[in-house]
Amino acid sequence: MLEEFTYRPLVAYFSMEIALQNEIPTYAGGLGVLAGDTMRSSSDLALPIIGVTLVSLAGYFRQAIDEAGRQVEHPDWWRPEDHAVPLEARVAIPMEGREVWIRGWLYVLEGHMGGRTPIVLLDTDVGENREDDRQITHYLYGGDEVYRLKQEMVLGIGGARMLQALGVTVLQYHLNEGHSALLTLELLRRYAHPRAHLRTGEARYDVPRVRELCNFTTHTPVEAGHDQFSYDLVQRLLGTYFDLVTLKSLAGQERLNMTRLALNLSLYINGVAKRHTETSRVMFPGYEVRSVTNGVHPFAWTGPSFVQLYDTHFPGWCHEPDLLVRADRLSDAAVWSAHSAEKEGLLKMVKERSGVDLDPAVATLGFARRMTGYKRPDLLFSDLERLKHIAQQTPLQIVLAGKAHPRDEGGKGLIERLHRHVRELPSIRIAYLPNYDMTIARVLVAGVDVWLNTPLPPMEASGTSGMKASFNGVPNLSVLDGWWAEGYIEGVTGWAIGELGKAPEADAESLYQKLEQVVLPLYYSNRSGWIAVMKGAISRNASFFNSHRMMRRYTTEAYVQ
Ligand SMILES: *Cc1c(COP(=O)(O)O)cnc(C)c1O
Repeated sequence: MLEEFTYRPLVAYFSMEIALQNEIPTYAGGLGVLAGDTMRSSSDLALPIIGVTLVSLAGYFRQAIDEAGRQVEHPDWWRPEDHAVPLEARVAIPMEGREVWIRGWLYVLEGHMGGRTPIVLLDTDVGENREDDRQITHYLYGGDEVYRLKQEMVLGIGGARMLQALGVTVLQYHLNEGHSALLTLELLRRYAHPRAHLRTGEARYDVPRVRELCNFTTHTPVEAGHDQFSYDLVQRLLGTYFDLVTLKSLAGQERLNMTRLALNLSLYINGVAKRHTETSRVMFPGYEVRSVTNGVHPFAWTGPSFVQLYDTHFPGWCHEPDLLVRADRLSDAAVWSAHSAEKEGLLKMVKERSGVDLDPAVATLGFARRMTGYKRPDLLFSDLERLKHIAQQTPLQIVLAGKAHPRDEGGKGLIERLHRHVRELPSIRIAYLPNYDMTIARVLVAGVDVWLNTPLPPMEASGTSGMKASFNGVPNLSVLDGWWAEGYIEGVTGWAIGELGKAPEADAESLYQKLEQVVLPLYYSNRSGWIAVMKGAISRNASFFNSHRMMRRYTTEAYVQ
């Protein structure tokens, strides 16, 4: 079954979450969507790659919102047999002194250009396992830290063993974030000195060999965001799997830090935007951190009207998105008509999903992402009188969406607060679409007029939804963090909120000023000026911030040297 893929060496791409398709809830947000776009571009480019992730049978969660605006979480069960085929190989990993068995499902990602890319979904829900072990691969990012470490053992150690059992020759390993870093321990054991018992410490292990095999992409610009586990817990779960003295030398003396482990055992390390790479270099002195700015998949995130427009004017753009650099040649009428069709699609979806009637003639702001403190989803609402006043002069309407992690009380509070603001602002049409997912994202990034992004710098490593907007000619209005520090040219590709190095408290004022004095006046009184910015977003940003470029870079700079 796998022979179609395993006849040649493959890059093994490990990620805790991969957004394969909307019906498969094996993703929570940006990291998973990026992993999915990585697989989609690999498929279009026919790269020799295999994805490894958890089957997450109950998904992340399905979000409902109650009368009071509170998030309600439901399990999002899916049936792998409807989308994937079971693999015969089974592997076991040691855990708490017993064995946990893992089976694999093969999902073949079929790209729109005919490419096929294999992804192995790891599943512990098998009869050999104890009841609690069967649940390890149920809830993506669920449970407590014990559950998380078990999941990371399945992903890293189990994933590496599974590839071996399947007969995959691994060209290189790519660790997408630190969750899979335990795979480095499995490789150290595999390539240990044959007479290891005669040696001590690191000399037993062929660290250089493992480093040559591993590539690590970090996504977390703050120390507190890195997965860390106490060595008491590690010892309880891993037992004698790996000697503690060496482990501490590789993963940190105090706690097992998954990022440290990945950093110490990867020859190629990168951040996901230039600004994020600079932050990472300061956070991880002594490591050579390179920079590969993220991108999004061209076809997956371009609305049907723009697909048609690009197909007509830039044949081959799906393979070579750089061709969109000529977007300035498109006629104003063609761009506006494609946008109007996308906006109509959005208004229809908003009506269906929230009951809110939006007005096609009114400037529409979109904000959808993980609801958590640093994303500051309430920045737009920090002065309701000001917002009302702006909307009186230059009408605006708003579409919001996003989930909060079930244990992020702050994030859940933000969802409630946004719903309160909706009630407090009857004069402005505002819709909050529940259960943000890839389908909503695709319609939203194409159908709004402005994509709003207000993270607290330097917390946004990259952000990718704004890149999706660019493919649909939707300008960004964003804080200069993550990718936007690279993608932004004032008044050409969109607009900045705040200034680099200025106090973040000034961001709300800057946001209101830009809306009131620049963005909305341009929208209503200079349509051809507005369309020029739309074209700027396509020509300068879609042509560059795409996952084909990203994968071509990973291939030539990390995988093949
Ligand atoms: C693109 C996407 C994200 C990531 O958006 P950011 O701007 O990086 O926060 C999250 N969730 C879904 C469903 C997406 O499609």
